[in-house]
Amino acid sequence: MGLIQEHPGIDRTELALSVGVSNAAITNIVNELLIAGIVTETNSQQNLKHRGRRRVGLQIENKGGFVLGINVLASYVSIVLADINGNLIEEKEVKPQKIKDPAHTFSDIKTAADILLTEHRVPLSRLFGIGFSVAGYLDKKRETLERAPYIGWPSFHLKNKLQNMFGKIVTVENVTRCVALAESKFGALKGLKDLVLIRSALGLGGAIITGGQLLNGNQNFAGDLGHILAVPGGKICSCGKCGCLNTVASGWAIMNKLGTTDKSYETANQFLTQNIQLRNLLNSESSDKVDVNAAAVEAGEALAKHLFTTLQILNPKVVCLTGPLGRHKKYSEAFRNTIISMGFDQKIILASERDIITPAMASVYLALSELVYSPSFNFEQILSSNQKRVVSK
Ligand SMILES: [Zn+2]
Repeated sequence: MGLIQEHPGIDRTELALSVGVSNAAITNIVNELLIAGIVTETNSQQNLKHRGRRRVGLQIENKGGFVLGINVLASYVSIVLADINGNLIEEKEVKPQKIKDPAHTFSDIKTAADILLTEHRVPLSRLFGIGFSVAGYLDKKRETLERAPYIGWPSFHLKNKLQNMFGKIVTVENVTRCVALAESKFGALKGLKDLVLIRSALGLGGAIITGGQLLNGNQNFAGDLGHILAVPGGKICSCGKCGCLNTVASGWAIMNKLGTTDKSYETANQFLTQNIQLRNLLNSESSDKVDVNAAAVEAGEALAKHLFTTLQILNPKVVCLTGPLGRHKKYSEAFRNTIISMGFDQKIILASERDIITPAMASVYLALSELVYSPSFNFEQILSSNQKRVVSK
């Protein structure tokens, strides 16, 4: 299925060669995929190149299956319905009544999911899986949420909770890591094996892909660059320590510089309030704009100065700066100019110049890569439910 999805129009002979099995075996497998309605026949991509017998190509049927992508940030919750080719069908913003209460928020998400599936007439048997990304720290198995201080959620078994609620397989990932994976597997950076993604918002986050794999570290904190020490004895960070990179290079640092806030966010409520303040500040067209830009440049330069050594050690092919400040022209350009002036010579991609995959779509790609185009895909179950459907007709 992965080969057909990557090469629409591929024919049975090419598939057999790529997989390394006989033509007869491939014909049997393809017949099952055709019966299941996941694959359809099309004109082969080879028709123009080869004379003689016309070959029948194969493609993934858009309506063959669907996935949901769910994204939970403290300030934004959304859900996306997409087909198994990764085409977005609809995105809905979920506005949780009580974001700090996971049970309540999940119930709001489930309601939105049910509406999406009903409106687009997706039968549950055709929902192949759900990808869920969250602004929080997960355990190494990516099942238990250990901390989500800015959403205000306690520690609990996130994966089980979601699977019980949806009755579907759910795959869970930290949001920044999820976007990095999606960019390296599906985005413009497809095939890229060494990438550092920095998400700059009120606080800083990061994800490292090295040799094609996410770097986890001993405590699963790898990439958590907001809390590396930048200024010994500096300002108090949201984590309680002094002088973290967050205090000089994040959205909070810009607000602090401008006198909008003097205390870091310690609670989920303070996070939400400051997040709104930051958004207003970045969108402001007032006379303060000059000051905002100057503070943004200073923070962008600080980000580059303090990350230069780390990036040299990691030696990524691409550094990608995203989040609301990655989309801010002055901040992101100050980061790039400074780090280049220090001697960094690998590619730098700024969200202010190019669209980065959104967290909700990244959750869709997570579901596709781990639950559909993956050995864990339960084809037998789908085939049997489809046969029942055909018989009942
Ligand atoms: Zn910190």
